[in-house]
Amino acid sequence: MNIWWIRRDLRLSDNAALSSALNAGTGVVPVFILDDRLLAKPAEKRHAFLFASLRALDADLRQRGSKLILRRGEPVHELCRLAEESGAEEVFAEQDISPYALRRDAEVAERLNLHLVHSLSVHPVTAITRLDGKPFTVFTPYSRAWKALPFNAHIMPVPAVMPPVPELPSVELPDLPALEDFLAGEHEANRRLDAFLDGPIFAYGSGRDLLDLAGTSALSPYLRFGMLSVQHVASAARQTAGLAMDVQSRAGCETWLNEIIWREFYQSILYHFPHVLKGPFRSNMHAIPWRNAPQDLLAWQAGLTGYPVVDAGMRQMAATGWMHNRARMITGSFLVKHLLINWQEGERWFMRSLIDGDPAANNGGWQWIAGTGTDATPYFRIFNPILQGKKFDPDGAYVRRWLPELANIPAKFIHTPWELSAIEQRNYGMLIGRDYPAPIVEHNFARQRALAAYSGK
Ligand code: FAD
Repeated sequence: MNIWWIRRDLRLSDNAALSSALNAGTGVVPVFILDDRLLAKPAEKRHAFLFASLRALDADLRQRGSKLILRRGEPVHELCRLAEESGAEEVFAEQDISPYALRRDAEVAERLNLHLVHSLSVHPVTAITRLDGKPFTVFTPYSRAWKALPFNAHIMPVPAVMPPVPELPSVELPDLPALEDFLAGEHEANRRLDAFLDGPIFAYGSGRDLLDLAGTSALSPYLRFGMLSVQHVASAARQTAGLAMDVQSRAGCETWLNEIIWREFYQSILYHFPHVLKGPFRSNMHAIPWRNAPQDLLAWQAGLTGYPVVDAGMRQMAATGWMHNRARMITGSFLVKHLLINWQEGERWFMRSLIDGDPAANNGGWQWIAGTGTDATPYFRIFNPILQGKKFDPDGAYVRRWLPELANIPAKFIHTPWELSAIEQRNYGMLIGRDYPAPIVEHNFARQRALAAYSGK
């Protein structure tokens, strides 16, 4: 009997850990351990998505004659107990790379025969290095090396039947409200991938930045929990590129594959430079004089900064647990540059709010925005939230969707509602200061303040 210890590989298709567990012996006990140390962190929507996905996985297992065993507590203790109860001698799991996962797995490996199987990324974090053996710290050469390595395009099918699981204690999943915008499970993940490959991927080059368009795949929560194998996703993107009718469509597929490579780049950064979770990647960026401004932080979190595109992004995340990538960049830049609040506050808030919240990608994104990371934006690049809104949400559809108080404002003023006269505001049923705040900071002032704060570094 073997244990398949599920962590962030909630799928039956192309699952390397499951397949190793099946091949290695006479039976498999699939187990997920609700780890109190992780569940204690506030992230209600991500937990709701995880629990719903575990229910979906259990249903898929039951259809094949197996079932999911759920435990709650310290992984090492729960696994030892389960091994004793089931007579299992080997534990199979997908390798993970966060500092916490590495510590946890080392502890388990001291007590049990733990086999860690690679499948979190297309290429293992240790496979792509510079000629001198050191990890890459810049994306472009990393991506070149990534693309030069062949990868296995063989996708392992879903097992048709699975060995029955003996009677074993299992706990109930906590009840949390379901998420309307992100149905859980492997079937939904595959449905979304197919729909994206069927059209939007070809226009990804131009569609990815438009806030009011579903131009991206919205697959991040599914990739975060491994409801899709990333090998499957990457080889599907390559195959689809081969079907592209013109150069632009092909470029769309390649740009999308590049995003998967960013995901792996940040995994590699986290693995090789775990200090990024504690502070700047670049040591010379430690001394930025961040403001302690709790009221401004609260306004940003609540989507009440008075800059519509910033507030729309924050409210999209609050409502759905997901935010468009362009909006992540705009809202992030606003916190760090306009409000001069430490990017780690933003990192924490995003981890709390996002259903795709992932330490490697989130930290990479925030360090990039703050200019403290690997390929970070230069410090003097400060997004203008008005121009960003006009460019990426030209008609204001995104803003109107998430800020109902601005629903009647015409496109010309949707990103600068404070420029409307008092009479116009009354006509549109929206008074600045009553229905929607005035900007909490003036753009040019904030820009100069950020430049001064950063230029001393
Ligand atoms: P698509 O554009 O369809 O891209 C496909 C996949 O590639 C995504 O699902 C994701 O897995 C990966 N990907 C895309 N862009 C990036 C990127 N810049 N870095 C790493 N992986 C990427 N992504 C997360 O998955 N989790 C996070 O916690 C997270 N936090 C972020 C925080 C900030 C401040 C920023 C700027 C970006 C963050 N991202 C994060 C990256 C990116 O915004 C999301 O992956 C993307 O918006 C998800 O939407 P999608 O699935 O439609 O992406």
